[in-house]
Amino acid sequence: MELVTMPGQKAKGKVWLVGAGPGDVELLTLKAFRILKSADVVLYDALVSQDILDLIPSNAEKIAVGKRAGKHSAAQDEINQLLVTKAYTRKNVVRLKGGDPFIFGRGGEELQTLVASGIAFEVVPGITAASGTSAYAGIPLTHRDYAQGVTFITGHCQLGSRPMDWQGYANPNNTLVVYMGILNANVISDGLIGAGRSADTPVAIVSKATTSTQQRFMGKLGELAQLAADPALQMPALMIIGEVVELADSLNWFEPNTETQAIDIDAAKAL
Ligand code: SAH
Repeated sequence: MELVTMPGQKAKGKVWLVGAGPGDVELLTLKAFRILKSADVVLYDALVSQDILDLIPSNAEKIAVGKRAGKHSAAQDEINQLLVTKAYTRKNVVRLKGGDPFIFGRGGEELQTLVASGIAFEVVPGITAASGTSAYAGIPLTHRDYAQGVTFITGHCQLGSRPMDWQGYANPNNTLVVYMGILNANVISDGLIGAGRSADTPVAIVSKATTSTQQRFMGKLGELAQLAADPALQMPALMIIGEVVELADSLNWFEPNTETQAIDIDAAKAL
């Protein structure tokens, strides 16, 4: 990895790698909230919800560093470089990421750059999309009658270049959560069915989970590609595959499009 340093200078600040959770502003931790409030500069991803961005003090510098599929590595190098540069000149540098920074968030890679540059950091975990989606879609990821374990996989980057362990993921007693999988829905269903998972396994695709525009698309593994191609489906979206999805109707409690926010956002902004 490229070593970014500023010879002759000592870094003034510290980087806080912070998880913003899946969307609902109330799922931000109190620690993340406190750190955001004292930020001098915030570098944030496209996935961070507007409600959370609204909590950043107006005198803090806000930098959108959203990545575009296909341009990952170039953009990631620029982000790494920017984090280091900011840490040299500002005191509290916040790197704000959707969900949890260590789950498919490349948070580890960013920290490796900081380590190489001798910059101090702390990590604040966030509620990952799988947990948020599970709760707000009424789908427990484990349940003694349906699934003894759960696996989080990415359906994106390495497909094609690195073989997916379909055999390992096809275990019928396990729930599979697929991040970034929508564009590869057919590869995922073919891979799992080819490895022996039943085409009748219940699946859910949940878009914009935990927000007022959350939508659930329910079906069977054999029709995953059709569900993923639904023109009403918006990004980001997560797939949950497994028998636990059967519980979604009876355990569903969340009603999108209704005012669920309990805290007074205007008051929180002013804190
Ligand atoms: N670090 C993040 C994940 C980043 S990868 C986390 O811990 O949640 C981005 C993927 O996360 C998206 O492609 C989507 O699959 C999933 N995702 C993130 N937020 C989501 C949301 N609100 N609803 C559904 N899926 C979401």
